[in-house]
Amino acid sequence: MSSSRIQLVQGDITTLDVEVVVAAANSGLMGGGGVDGAIHRAAGPELLQACRKLGGCPTGEARMTPGFQLHAKYVIHAVGPIWDGGGYGEAELLRSAYTSSLALAQQHDVRSIAFPCISTGVYGFPKEKACEIAITAVQYWLAENALPERVTFCCFGDDDYALYEQRLSES
Ligand code: ADP
Repeated sequence: MSSSRIQLVQGDITTLDVEVVVAAANSGLMGGGGVDGAIHRAAGPELLQACRKLGGCPTGEARMTPGFQLHAKYVIHAVGPIWDGGGYGEAELLRSAYTSSLALAQQHDVRSIAFPCISTGVYGFPKEKACEIAITAVQYWLAENALPERVTFCCFGDDDYALYEQRLSES
């Protein structure tokens, strides 16, 4: 049964009314393209300044900054793995990027958080595998923790949205 604490939406994550948006960041936290670029554009230049002070973030971990001009109070910068065939711990690192973000949100009493499909753009993680890992990691977390109360998966493309819709209908 799918948890009512999980929501699925399609569109631009920067427009969502949530307390935290998660950025699919690179380990330098220096801004990038894709969803990270969109978040930096919407948050304004102060976001990059805040990121510079963090001194990077290892793959599989996450860091938090304010959301600046975003609706969201915070941005969590999660670093997913670059797909390299699957034999380099990519699955565990992706799971860890989700779980680290949820733990950080919980520490800050966050009630609502939205995730993009981390690593499935430029980082090349196969979309179906990534969808399974993302949903499983979030479901496990929600079964054990009261916060965040609500988790939104924000899919940009039709293909991702269809994958998540199908997978959530089965759980
Ligand atoms: P990565 O480097 O982790 O692969 P990308 O930003 O290249 O990150 O892609 C991650 C996912 O974010 C992709 O599924 C892409 O379609 C999606 N995406 C791109 N822009 C946005 C946006 N504005 N809101 C939500 N998702 C987005």
